[in-house]
Amino acid sequence: MAITRFAPSPTGYLHIGGLRTALYSYLWARKTNGEFRLRIEDTDTQRNNEDAMKAIIEAFDWVGLSYDGEVEYQSKRVDIYKKYIQQLLDEGKAYNCYMSKEELDALREEQMANKQTPRYDGTWRPEEGKTLPAIPEGVEPVVRIKAPSDGVITFIDGVKSIMNFDCSEVDDFVIARSNGMPTYNFVVAIDDALMGMTDVIRGDDHLTNTPKQIVIYEALGFDVPKFYHVPMINNPSGKKLSKRDGAMDVMEYKRRGYLPEALLNFLVRLGWSNKDQEIFSMKEMLELFDPTNINKSASSYNEEKLLWLNAHY
Ligand code: GLU
Repeated sequence: MAITRFAPSPTGYLHIGGLRTALYSYLWARKTNGEFRLRIEDTDTQRNNEDAMKAIIEAFDWVGLSYDGEVEYQSKRVDIYKKYIQQLLDEGKAYNCYMSKEELDALREEQMANKQTPRYDGTWRPEEGKTLPAIPEGVEPVVRIKAPSDGVITFIDGVKSIMNFDCSEVDDFVIARSNGMPTYNFVVAIDDALMGMTDVIRGDDHLTNTPKQIVIYEALGFDVPKFYHVPMINNPSGKKLSKRDGAMDVMEYKRRGYLPEALLNFLVRLGWSNKDQEIFSMKEMLELFDPTNINKSASSYNEEKLLWLNAHY
């Protein structure tokens, strides 16, 4: 029984890449009699777009992807995140860091000049027998989580197989800003854990966030879900999709006369296959879809294929 979610940031309209990961998450939850949840990641108040938020829900209705329970909005869950930040501080698994932006910039520049990867140097990390610097006046601290300082963070990705991240790639990253607001990876990990996610299916642009999220799960003693990082959809010349070739609002397909069945069929095949079958009813998708068969390489957008499929419905 898989509990999955789709978690868009409403900073722009829903594109086909997002709808495809939503479809994969939906199929996996429904196939296994699990749950499919929708969570709006609207903590970036500067970039949120009300119309985009409505359009996401409208697009889900149009294509017929039903979700379980109420839509969760991260903006309404800030108190929950703050509680966990405090818990980590109380348990000594996170700490206040008073390094100013200027000091951080100088550190970064020095590291880059020495051809090192920019990384927080642990100045404010409490350690036995270490004296911390005096707390500067008038500086509001950020909160950093203690990440493991050596070894590897490993997880099995259901698409890409075993993933190893050297701990030197994950520093003591910020989980709360100086205004007390939690950061992106922190809220994603807390929500996925509290919403009981068993399987996280998302774009592989999030792959490097995963070791950070695992650090958070482990610090709080939460079970780590299974991850499936889905390769991107490129345009026919192998470049990132642009507005012209598919990176448009999903509702634009409706305006252009495409049928939702044809669009979902098109999307399921963009990154997953079952032998050489091209036409899939929703019933067949539900019977056959398995996220471990998602393609390991990027797929190529081809609107001719969508036109062809549309003619079959
Ligand atoms: N909110 C993220 C996005 O829209 C997705 C986060 C996730 O799936 O973990 O790209």
